[in-house]
Amino acid sequence: MNYVDKDALIQAGHSITDDYLNSHCRIDDANGSYHYQNVDYDGNFGDSGAKDAILRLALASQDNYCCYCMRDLSYQNQQVTLEHVIPQSASAEEFGRYTALGVHSLTDAELIRTADFTGVQNIAIPPCPHTVTFENLMASCDGTFPDKNGTSQCCNHKRGNDFVYPMFYIASVRDEITYMEDGTMQPNANCAYPDEYRQTIVHTRLNCQNLKDIRKLWRLLASENYEVLVTCVGDRNLRSKILMTVLFKKEDQSEADSKILCKFMKDDYWKTFLLYHWFYNRI
Ligand SMILES: [Zn+2]
Repeated sequence: MNYVDKDALIQAGHSITDDYLNSHCRIDDANGSYHYQNVDYDGNFGDSGAKDAILRLALASQDNYCCYCMRDLSYQNQQVTLEHVIPQSASAEEFGRYTALGVHSLTDAELIRTADFTGVQNIAIPPCPHTVTFENLMASCDGTFPDKNGTSQCCNHKRGNDFVYPMFYIASVRDEITYMEDGTMQPNANCAYPDEYRQTIVHTRLNCQNLKDIRKLWRLLASENYEVLVTCVGDRNLRSKILMTVLFKKEDQSEADSKILCKFMKDDYWKTFLLYHWFYNRI
């Protein structure tokens, strides 16, 4: 997982939200006062173009990687979604649980629950309404794999409104996570909030079988030439040969390795595997 630092783009993000709020939501009252209404992520926020603009900015701040699983989202035909860290429908209590974490980008100084923002006369910004604000919006993959109907899916849609600790906003996150030999992801001894990390990994299905297999394979193929691995998209013989050189080295892994071989000899799975090149020589 990568640390996401939005500070360099925060002004651009706030400009998008400010323009949207002023053009679509601000009501000037007769006495010189004003208030905001109809702050609607699923409606006028998208229609105004602000949603697309925030998505582009989010991708830029994340180097085009999914905030959770590290899938490269820059390739064509990738379904990219905008993820609300604090859920759109968060109750006051749930909202408070996130802001109480004290994580930069998600504090009370930066965000206000949208339901508590609208209708208040002469409200000052920031804090910004949480449903339409860059700090609370991350680019995420759609969590699907070639077996679209399978149970091994991940990230934004699978998470729903479940609690996540905003690990991507922790500067040391890379040093706090270990990817095990079998591809399992888990917090390590450096992690200050291991229970919260574990909970987040469960809620976003980051240890689903497909992701574990992909990470295990990147670990096994760390010494292979990257360009050769790309060439394997169109060269199944070479792919088979390379996979056979790294799999079946441990007897107790033979059944798992058979499944991996079968899966990644399918062209669409190999292409999906390559979307996770962030893991090349990183685990
Ligand atoms: Zn993802």
